[in-house]
Order: sequence, then C-alpha cells, then structure tokens
Amino acid sequence: MIGVSGSSPLLASRLVAESFPLPGFVNAHSHTFQRALRGRAAGGDFWAWRENMLAEADRQTPELVRVSYETAYREMRAAGFTAVGEFHYLGLAEAFAAAEAASAAGIELVLLHAAYARGGLSRSRQETVRGYLAEVEALRDFGLRIGLAPHSVRACPADWLEQIGRYAEQAELPLHVHADEQPKEIEECQAEHGCRPIELLARTGCLGPRTTVVHATHADGAELDLLASTGATICACPTTEADLGDGFLPAERIRGRGIPLCIGTDSNVRIDPFEELRELEGIARRQTGRRGIFQTDELFRFGSELGGRALGLEKWAGIEIDLEHRSLHGVSSEHVAGALVAGCGADVVEKE
Ligand SMILES: [Zn+2]
Repeated sequence: MIGVSGSSPLLASRLVAESFPLPGFVNAHSHTFQRALRGRAAGGDFWAWRENMLAEADRQTPELVRVSYETAYREMRAAGFTAVGEFHYLGLAEAFAAAEAASAAGIELVLLHAAYARGGLSRSRQETVRGYLAEVEALRDFGLRIGLAPHSVRACPADWLEQIGRYAEQAELPLHVHADEQPKEIEECQAEHGCRPIELLARTGCLGPRTTVVHATHADGAELDLLASTGATICACPTTEADLGDGFLPAERIRGRGIPLCIGTDSNVRIDPFEELRELEGIARRQTGRRGIFQTDELFRFGSELGGRALGLEKWAGIEIDLEHRSLHGVSSEHVAGALVAGCGADVVEKE
C-alpha cells in the first residue's frame, strides 16, 4: 500500500486504491520437478505421460533440485503463492535441497514426504514402512515442516496405510494422498481390496480432519460421503487434471456436502492461482448449466485459508494486487475480487 500522508483527500483515495491486499495463495500440491515437462509431447494418455515423468524424476539430483526448484518457487511467489506443499518422492538429499530452494525463494514450504512401497522408481521407494517413518523422523529432527504422504493406494499396501495413518494421528501432522485420479487406479484397488481408494483410506485410518485427498476426480457418492463425515479436504489441481486428461472434479457434489477444497499446481504446467480457481467454477458451470456455484469469497478461501489449513500452516505472507494493471482497467472497487477470478492472470500480483 502506498503511503498517503500529506496528500489531498482526492489524491489519497486514488493512491490508496492503486493496490489491493489479499492473503497469499497457498499451493497445496506441487511436484516441482515436473515443471520441466511442460510443452513436451509426452504420451497419449496419463499412463504414457507418467513414463516420461518418471524418466524426468530419475534424472534429478540434489544440485538440479536446488537450482530448478528455486526458479519455480520464485515463479510461484511472483504469481501470488506464498506457501507450497511439496509432494516429494525423489529421496532424502533432494528433500533437503528443496527446502533450501524454498528458503532462497522466500516461500513457506511444507515437505509432504512420500511413502512408496511398490511401483515407480527405486529411488522413491522405502523397503519397509518403518524405514519410511525413520526418514520422516530425520526430516522432522532437521526442523523441516513436514506432512505424511502415502503416495497412493497403488504405491502403498494396506498395512503401510494403517501405520502411516496412526503415526500422522499421533503426531498431529497433515496426511496427503493421491486418490481417484484415474479409473484404472480404482479398478486395481477394487481387484486387490474389494473397495474403492477412498474407502480403503477410511478402512486403514487415513481419513480425518488433517487429511487431504488430492484429485478425487472419479470419487463416487459414497466416497464423497466418507470425506464429508471425516472432515477431510480435497485438493483440486484443475490445470493439471485438464492437461493429463484426468476428468472433471465433481464440483457441485463436493460443494453440496460441504467438503473443504484447496488448490494445487501439481505438475506445474501452469503456475497461476486465479486460473485454478476460475477452473473450479468453470467446471461447476459446465456440469450444472448454472452460474455462481461457488461464491467469489469462497473461491478465495479455497485458494488461501483452506490450503494453509491442509498444510498445517498458521501464517504465510500476504500479497498485493496492482489495480493499475491493464486487465483491471474500468473495474469498480466492489467488483475487483470477482474480476480477479473471472478475468485476470497472475501478472496482476504486484512485484515484491
Ligand atoms: Zn500429484
């Protein structure tokens, strides 16, 4: 905000109106190394894309993470995200490198350390769940803010989920897990466990008010009821879900049940909180044929407060919007918040 002392009342009101403070946005789900994949022709469906993604993951080193994550975190910061949950499955040395990168870029980091029992890359896997929890302890002892992150019901068997759920509950830490992103994952879960992914998470004690289920794109009514009754949050990542051909978030059914929502940039094909929020409302409109499914202040809560809660954060920096930006010309002050969601990109955020 520009200082106004000594200005005429008219000039003062104009100067005051040049910027518009907002709570900083919270990016509750990022795999930052995947930013390198944007624009590459990378497979005809999610599973083919995943092969390219795993090849990119496998070439990561602590040095590369330190440099490339700082660049991407600076982009997030410039776009208005002042906190990020890094869902990390590249190894311990790379976790410390990510924390250094976040510190250098001036963004709050919560490291969501992934448990990976099977599939994927060997560098992502731990031999035992006890080994995984030892890694969690090492990161905590180092003073990093962390969360438990069983990667998915694909990557973690039921006994791992039970122990991780218990640990998160006792330590009062966030628990983040991917679920229901793709139909094939649901079919495999039904074949192995006789139930759907979010039902398995409930059965193994992984659902509660500190739980965030990432995607929930194909969650059915019973699964959404479980999320609502346990107080769990859904992290939607609409630009990534579009890019990967995942499907549409069941937006209105989520809202009808009062399930908290937050947003993430996930594969970082785009880094723009306004675009993620606009997509949430856009998906709801396309699905229902109606407008205003989510209120503007509700969308801003998803983008900030509920993301912070999902990461277990109490505070993170605020931002200012440049009211002189060309995309806000002619917008009256009472319509600025709505115009930000409806028609602006992240370049309206004032530079530090
Ligand atoms: Zn993810």
